[in-house]
Amino acid sequence: MGRTEGDSWDISENVGTTALATAMVRAAETTRDDRLTADPFAQHFLNAAVARGWKNPYATEAWNRNEYDDPAVARFRQASTDWAACRTRFIDDFLTVGGERQVVILAAGLDARAWRLTWPHATVVYELDQPGVLEFKDDTMRAHDAEPAIARRAVPIDLRRDWPAALTAAGFDPGEPTAWVAEGLLPYLPPAAQDLLFERIHQFSAARSRLVVDAYTPEFYANTAETFRRMNETTREDVYSGEELFFAGERADVVEWLADRGWSTRAAVAVDVMAQFGRPAPDDVPAGSLSSTFVTALR
Ligand code: SAM
Repeated sequence: MGRTEGDSWDISENVGTTALATAMVRAAETTRDDRLTADPFAQHFLNAAVARGWKNPYATEAWNRNEYDDPAVARFRQASTDWAACRTRFIDDFLTVGGERQVVILAAGLDARAWRLTWPHATVVYELDQPGVLEFKDDTMRAHDAEPAIARRAVPIDLRRDWPAALTAAGFDPGEPTAWVAEGLLPYLPPAAQDLLFERIHQFSAARSRLVVDAYTPEFYANTAETFRRMNETTREDVYSGEELFFAGERADVVEWLADRGWSTRAAVAVDVMAQFGRPAPDDVPAGSLSSTFVTALR
């Protein structure tokens, strides 16, 4: 089943499971001696989803040891996991240096930054995602008596709908500089909804607002489905597949889009960031699989 215009999901259904996939990366990262980030909540989310009946595709022995008959699979799995861990750390650093008192995390999923990062006094973090995803997150945090480090406001809404109205109703002040985060979101929006998302961010950004977003090349979009199909066939695992979840079609270039509207932008090439964080990507991962940039922008 492909994507449809008004589709919605729970944590263990289609796009919702991608929030569990990134939680899986952070749970694994947290156990490493050389970890780039520590997220003590990530494993709780995975456990809670399994308790609700989610079949965890990452629970195999081969996955955990990253030992596959075909060494190309192991290299790809390691590289894509490292890529996601580096993205999380890159965005942690972006938020830590900013000092904005207003933070909006679009497509927050199971992002626990409101709980796990150190924030300036009186920061408010707004989290937007589908109602079913945020409900699951809230239930799990409550079950662990986990309190956010600062004020955190959940804004349950589909990002193809009028989310600025919901955000403003939750207390967001468009007159204040905002740090915007859109991590792991763009491929799940149709190209026109991506444009509208940036249009709205632009419209609701006071001077000195900043944005961080991961953006992907046409090569990534063209090849991802095939890469995952091949990996899943080889391993007989049923892990995340971009094929069913991404929206197709030509997209605006994020850096150009923002620069045209006066934002100062910087695109950090993902594989360069990985090398800087001590997780260099092998040369022979499938074409396009890491072809992305971590874009930062200042209004
Ligand atoms: N940002 C989180 C992270 O990095 O852990 C989650 C990333 S996960 C790959 C993608 C998230 O985008 C999911 O939580 C999903 O529910 C959310 N998402 C995708 N399309 C959305 C939409 N149209 N409206 C609201 N949330 C959406």
